Amino acid sequence: MRTMSHILLLLALFSFCIFSCKKSFDDTSIAQSVKDKISSHCFSTEGAQKTTGGLIVEGDIFLPDSFFEENPSVQNLLVGRTQQFQTNNVVTGLPRTITINLSSQLPSSYSAAVNEAISRFNNENLSLRFERTSTTADISIEKGAGTYLAISGFPGADGNPYNSIKLNSMFIGNNNSNNFINYVATIIAHEMGHCIGFRHTDYVDRSFSCGGKSMRESCGFAGVLLIPGTIAVPDRGSWMLTCISPGENRPFTAYDEIALRYLYQ
Ligand SMILES: [Zn+2]
Repeated sequence: MRTMSHILLLLALFSFCIFSCKKSFDDTSIAQSVKDKISSHCFSTEGAQKTTGGLIVEGDIFLPDSFFEENPSVQNLLVGRTQQFQTNNVVTGLPRTITINLSSQLPSSYSAAVNEAISRFNNENLSLRFERTSTTADISIEKGAGTYLAISGFPGADGNPYNSIKLNSMFIGNNNSNNFINYVATIIAHEMGHCIGFRHTDYVDRSFSCGGKSMRESCGFAGVLLIPGTIAVPDRGSWMLTCISPGENRPFTAYDEIALRYLYQ
């Protein structure tokens, strides 16, 4: 039992944000007025950091400077008590196929992961489908560098998906095992989730997946719509949880599937 406790402790220590490999820090260069805007959109301000053309919040979400002007209000959809996403930022024009390409700068093992992530979505038989391409794509998966594992953004007001996913292969790693491919597929599927409008399942309290102190956002349940028939307890395995442990595989849970169908059936 003691050995098991030690293993669990080690696993917990190695558990980290899917997006932020470094410990969260407060960027003191971000004005309080900007933090207030972040909060008003129900994003956590903890660890928010400036980057070219905008801000990175919650570890892997890029909000361009224009976001706060273009999105005056937020409506969130709630599955159980932890599954939420914005409904004012979704992909429109359904049924629709979204193309995805992968930069050759990323390790070749990531190619199988992209295909696996695409299969996970397409296996849900949604009216939104994904297709791999080697030419110009709706979403380009590029090599990223910084203090994150991966980063993406939300659909625009024009109803198109966010057009970029950056993967930091230095932190994610590279090998050809099935476990690794499923791990990278989980990260890619998570970022694809953001690109089509999904927010973090546990955004009202990231400590659910990230550990640490409980961070309950003040606007957590404001303006949310509960999807009938879903649980009122955290969805432990959701693909849109904020944090992931290295090597973890998180295919869609039954509640993830309900959320996907609700938006994109
Ligand atoms: Zn995320």
